Amino acid sequence: MNAMDKKGRTTGTVLRIERSSIHDGQGLRTVVFLKGCPLRCLWCSTPESQRPGPELGLAADRCRGCGTCAEVCPAGAISPAAEKGKAELNRAECRGCFACVFECPAGALKKYGVSMTVEEVAAEISRDEVFYFHSGGGVTISGGEPLFQPRFTAEVLRKCKRLGIHTAIETCLFAPWDHVEAVLPWLDVLYADIKLMDEGLHKRWTGAGNGLILENLRRIDASPYDVEIIARVPMIPGVTDTDDNLSDTVEMLSRVTKLRDIELLPYHRLGIETYGYLGREYSLRDLVSPSEEHVLERRKYLDRLMKKFRIGS
Ligand code: SF4
Ligand code: SF4
Repeated sequence: MNAMDKKGRTTGTVLRIERSSIHDGQGLRTVVFLKGCPLRCLWCSTPESQRPGPELGLAADRCRGCGTCAEVCPAGAISPAAEKGKAELNRAECRGCFACVFECPAGALKKYGVSMTVEEVAAEISRDEVFYFHSGGGVTISGGEPLFQPRFTAEVLRKCKRLGIHTAIETCLFAPWDHVEAVLPWLDVLYADIKLMDEGLHKRWTGAGNGLILENLRRIDASPYDVEIIARVPMIPGVTDTDDNLSDTVEMLSRVTKLRDIELLPYHRLGIETYGYLGREYSLRDLVSPSEEHVLERRKYLDRLMKKFRIGS
């Protein structure tokens, strides 16, 4: 979870860095997506962020069947697959050298995740300082789960804070308390994913119970750190967006004094092809994205609950 390079510098495994995002906090933001997440939400739209280390993806739809990857692979893990004219990857044999990625002329092979030092990431972030200044933006560290690499996340946030850059993280809060505590001194806003209040349903849909998450939320609220909390509820039709779950969620959040807002994040199907690139199954293949009317209706229901519990008033 915490790593160093040969010079003793803290490193992290970064999935990608996106600039000028308007969806991950106030103003224009640079979003650093990290690898590694302890949960396995069935609706996850970034499966390439779940595992901690770099991973190989094969987009068979882009493959031209040229066979170059099979020629360079030192492990014999790829075969040109004459039948469909596409490369076939034997993941059990792959050694993760990524030589094939750099040789593929079609961009069909992709490496998800790269090791970067804190200094390298901070330098990327500070390139956009002028935009943060004019838009009121800053940096957001997301994932995966930023608390899965706590030292790296804390050091990047500390560097940003010392440069006067507004800081935020997007977290599921499923982490040991010392991981949470490591980032709090350097944080302006914490976006907390609150998915399901029923322990059994949480376990069924995410792979883990919600006790640790709720306990971390309570401890952050009781801590001396001046951090704003914005709760985010993924809107998974029939799962998280039910009257009962929204009502129980808002009731729980009404006791969080550092809470500033509650957002609904409608379910979408972007990114599900990545499951195939990674050789995995997407188990919610038949789930349909909610209509605009349904999103609006649920938003209004949430607003009524927030009014009832005097949140944001
Ligand atoms: S990453 Fe390396 S070992 Fe794995 S398939 Fe590509 S070339 Fe072969
Ligand atoms: S190098 Fe790329 S295009 Fe050629 S067979 Fe391999 S994956 Fe397909």
